[in-house]
Amino acid sequence: MKSATQIAADVRSGASSAAAELERTLSVIAERNEELNVFLHVDIDGARAAAADVDARIANGDNVGPLAGVPIAIKDNLCQVGIPTTCSSKILEGWRPPYNATVIERIVAAGAVPVGKTNLDEFAMGSSTENSAFGPSRNPLDPTRVPGGSSGGSAAAVASNMTSLSLGSDTGGSIRQPAALCGLVGVKPTYGLVSRYGLIAFASSLDQIGPFSKTVADSALLLEVLAGHDPKDSTSLPEASPSLVAHVNDGVAGQRIGLVRELFDGADESVVTAVRAAAAALREAGAKIVDLSIPELELTLSAYYLIAPAEASSNLARYDGVRYGLRVKADDVTAMMEATRTAGFGAEVKRRIMLGTYALSAGYYDAYYGQALKVRTLTINAFARAYEQVDLLLGATTPSVAFKFGAKTADPMAMYLNDVFTIPTNLAGDPALSVPFTTGEEGLPIGVQLLGPGRSEARLFAAARVLEIADGRP
Ligand code: GLN
Repeated sequence: MKSATQIAADVRSGASSAAAELERTLSVIAERNEELNVFLHVDIDGARAAAADVDARIANGDNVGPLAGVPIAIKDNLCQVGIPTTCSSKILEGWRPPYNATVIERIVAAGAVPVGKTNLDEFAMGSSTENSAFGPSRNPLDPTRVPGGSSGGSAAAVASNMTSLSLGSDTGGSIRQPAALCGLVGVKPTYGLVSRYGLIAFASSLDQIGPFSKTVADSALLLEVLAGHDPKDSTSLPEASPSLVAHVNDGVAGQRIGLVRELFDGADESVVTAVRAAAAALREAGAKIVDLSIPELELTLSAYYLIAPAEASSNLARYDGVRYGLRVKADDVTAMMEATRTAGFGAEVKRRIMLGTYALSAGYYDAYYGQALKVRTLTINAFARAYEQVDLLLGATTPSVAFKFGAKTADPMAMYLNDVFTIPTNLAGDPALSVPFTTGEEGLPIGVQLLGPGRSEARLFAAARVLEIADGRP
């Protein structure tokens, strides 16, 4: 499968065309989507029109942009004008957004071709896509296993060679975790680097949109297009998009990288071995590895499962049977809302709404939500102190390789624990990525996680590239 960087170069030079690249994508989708359940909707006509437009502009001598003719899969919690957008929830079934997310505007302006909407855990709550109202996606590397979640469909689209790029969202790990389980690069950018306008809100203080790809360079290419100030998102950082592609091969010579015990302790032996091997590879490339402990990180999973549900309980109040999607008829408005929400939301979403409402209720606010916010401040300060000593941090992305369907559905805590290593940096607002490094049980991929201070994406990509080369992907 060609990289996005290669596709864009070929389309620009005339060696290929946007139409030809799209037809290849559509044929792989036709071959494998039924088995893998990656796309909830494929916009064949819209994608063909977009590809024809790119080819016409190239024939006209226009500069089409860095993603010229690259087919991209879009997580189905991102709004695209006129395209069914469900968040994998029955409550939004049939809804078509009247506007585009800023990221859609940006990728299309850069020449990309959005091909369709990918499956996720309902409202991005989960770690396996088993919470989707439209059935789980399968891991292309082993269809008896989950692709991770919540952006499991976007990960599976790239892992199955349907597309070279996809968009996901990461509130507590939903890009990095599926990237790790599917053998991909996945990036959670600095909070505010990428506009959230048109991303259907889960937990607004944590949500970020980011890329999936097979190569480090491709994620840098896409993130450069996504990033930059957007007046439509009040939390958008003021700066323009950073230069990322140009720094991918900067290496790690002279960098200090902290190997954080709390970010791999308790993981399976194969994962711990991979993290230690990654540290050795970075040292070999000239980095100084420093053993670190950040004890505060042990509190972050509990804090996240108060803050994220609290925000979700508020954000999901808008699904009332009046404004969007599903309406279950009843005798009066209260009964209609109750019946609509009862029928429209799945079990995990209801659990989060109840957890969040409880954590915010008058008698318990200080004990739960208030305490969680204090932990969040401790986490921010603990990371800031670590970044006074080192440039980047290294740990595991997930505790294990991809697990089997049903392995964690009976116990919500078992599912939540998948994100124990990814959640801390969402609370801090700092960037992190997962890059495949070695394999574990049954030859399944392992992802190692690199974390950095705010706006350190260029440095993260450079370190990830070192690991990519050390792992034999030149
Ligand atoms: N798995 C975590 C959760 O269920 C994170 C989800 C995400 O990042 N969207 O909340």
